[in-house]
Amino acid sequence: MDFKDYIRVIPDFPHEGISFKDITTLLKHGGVYKQAIDELKKMVEHLHIDVIAGPEARGFVVGAPLAYALGVGFAPIRKSGKLPYETIEVGYDLEYGKDQLAMHIDAVEKGQNVLIADDLLATGGTISTSVNLVRQLGGNVVGAAFMIELSDLNGRDKLPDIDVYTLMNY
Ligand code: 5GP
Repeated sequence: MDFKDYIRVIPDFPHEGISFKDITTLLKHGGVYKQAIDELKKMVEHLHIDVIAGPEARGFVVGAPLAYALGVGFAPIRKSGKLPYETIEVGYDLEYGKDQLAMHIDAVEKGQNVLIADDLLATGGTISTSVNLVRQLGGNVVGAAFMIELSDLNGRDKLPDIDVYTLMNY
């Protein structure tokens, strides 16, 4: 199975010069979506994961089914102002301006093994902010899993001490 056959590449979205990897064309094929999650499960099941943390919105699409498949918890990482209970927040730089990601203060217990999951690793900004949040809560980040890695953007360099697991490389 070549998962890339199910990824739609859209030139100049959301800006000129960006080649966007659209995963919706994979998600709509139930059997392929299941196989992708099962494949990621095989890659990470040795990590003794307690909780998967995933940033909205596409991190939920990968992280939640992976958590279900492993029988572990899921902790949402959301944009500032969306979570109802007390949160911690970490700022990060976007292409234009800044934003904040947040987690509930009790989303992860001290010492729990946490896997971070998202659809795609580009510059690594989103995932390093997620790692930061989990570590502030006392979680032990045991790895990061993605469907897609854009290797040329060197996102792994922002995660030097974290094992990265991916299904596809561009
Ligand atoms: P980074 O923070 O690593 O630069 O960017 C990764 C984040 O941006 C992920 O949360 C991902 O959902 C989103 N993203 C950036 N480029 C793409 C893309 O080409 N396709 C998809 N599906 N998401 C992208």
